Amino acid sequence: LTKLKKKPGYHVVHIAAEMAPVAKVGGLGDVVTGLGRALQKKGHLVEIILPKYDCMDYSRIKNLKVLDVELYSYFDGQTHKNKIWLGIVEGLPVYFIEPHHPAKFFWRGQFYGENDDFKRFTYFCRAALEFLLQSGKKPDMIHTHDWQTAAVAPLYWDIYVSQGLDSARLAFTCHNFEYQGVDAPGALASCGLNVQQLHRPDRMQDNFVHDRVNLLKGGIVFSNVVTTVSPTYAQEVRAPEGGRGLHLTLAQHSKKFLGVLNGIDNESWNPATDPLLEFQFSADDLSGKYANKAALRTRLGLAPSEGDDDRPLVGCITRLVPQKGVHLIRHAIYRTLECGGQFILLGSSPVPSIQREFEGIARDFDQHPHIRLVLKYDEALSHSIYAASDMFVIPSIFEPCGLTQMIAMRYGSIPVVRKTGGLNDSVFDADDSSYPEEKKNGFTFSAANEGGLNFALDRAMAYYRTNRQWWRNLVTRAMKMDYSWDHSADEYIDLYRQCLERSKTKL
Ligand code: ADP
Repeated sequence: LTKLKKKPGYHVVHIAAEMAPVAKVGGLGDVVTGLGRALQKKGHLVEIILPKYDCMDYSRIKNLKVLDVELYSYFDGQTHKNKIWLGIVEGLPVYFIEPHHPAKFFWRGQFYGENDDFKRFTYFCRAALEFLLQSGKKPDMIHTHDWQTAAVAPLYWDIYVSQGLDSARLAFTCHNFEYQGVDAPGALASCGLNVQQLHRPDRMQDNFVHDRVNLLKGGIVFSNVVTTVSPTYAQEVRAPEGGRGLHLTLAQHSKKFLGVLNGIDNESWNPATDPLLEFQFSADDLSGKYANKAALRTRLGLAPSEGDDDRPLVGCITRLVPQKGVHLIRHAIYRTLECGGQFILLGSSPVPSIQREFEGIARDFDQHPHIRLVLKYDEALSHSIYAASDMFVIPSIFEPCGLTQMIAMRYGSIPVVRKTGGLNDSVFDADDSSYPEEKKNGFTFSAANEGGLNFALDRAMAYYRTNRQWWRNLVTRAMKMDYSWDHSADEYIDLYRQCLERSKTKL
């Protein structure tokens, strides 16, 4: 008998600014955890490095302990002490870096939005690499995400390879080209990078404002493989508008750039086991879904169903930022009411004028039997809304991938979405005859205006009202679709493999 030799997995270290559920602002947090867990399940050794924020949800970290090491990392001409903590989040080992820098970088009560974000995260990048060097780890892949950890790439090649941290190849995933991390060149020097070398058009000089440097660009230029989060978005960012100036850089690096559709974590997003739901349910038995709908209506003070429940419940869970099509979200509320539906919005905005506008709408509908706006971040309520709603509106102007349409489908809520980015790669219109029947799972529109949204929402409402059996079949089909990480994680493993096979080749 020949013994099958088990192929050893890769050692992958993700360095990121977010990780669900402990430090999550948006989809990035879900991706780090979902991809990490999927890679781990497939036999790879996955470790995560995160900042130790004061505002994390510490209750979701198991066995958190401080390590008996003193890590000194460089910043602004000095070395600073860091404490390193180790804990388990969703089964993944996570190292948390706590800088003892006088600026208290991660002791701010929020994840982002500080004036010195550029400094805070370039400090973190340097400290994360210092930790990998000092701890003697020899990862195969270092995978970084978004501008916050993009500086890892130039730091790795310029400073750490010569010190012996040289086992790894670098993967960089950009989750949104709108946020790039741009600052004066001097800011780059703080973490020890050589500004003269890097402030050049083919390296980190910003493509718009030439006396600035751009971290996202550095991540693209200096990583071995660069991905974004859906194939359609990967096309969109190759054009000037989508790429926000980086289309030129992507053109130069097109051979190593591609889109891999994100997945969702099928274990944490599972209506059959979700502990945050009052009633669990599955595609084979939707009675729990209807019970959740009734319970949520009562909880939020909405009118209960009458007779055949022909008032569909429309949900929307989102950051309220221009990217998400806030004017169309507002319109969807009124349109749903006109069409005789109910609407629940869960969202909050970092933009004060938008937050104020929606607070105004929330007040207008205070006590209204069919409309409720909940303007905060609330993980538990989000699960209840996915489970309770019949439809889920996502009218984004652009959407790199979008996870809410996938979660909504898994919970039997039919997405009504604008055809852009990852929405275009995951939602297929029920009335579009160019798709096979088994692929159809929602309603889509193209024009980013009220007429466009009406076109999709009105059709969804009409089907719900006039053909309930057809609707139930659509719900069942959407719930059974596989948007798990399983397939996408294989794509990442393939990319890692290609990178490592080329590993002797220079960038
Ligand atoms: P983005 O990353 O642009 O915010 P995604 O669709 O990729 O958008 O991911 C959004 C994630 O954040 C989803 O898991 C969604 O459920 C969650 N989310 C967004 N807003 C809220 C909120 N107000 N309360 C709870 N969860 C939210």
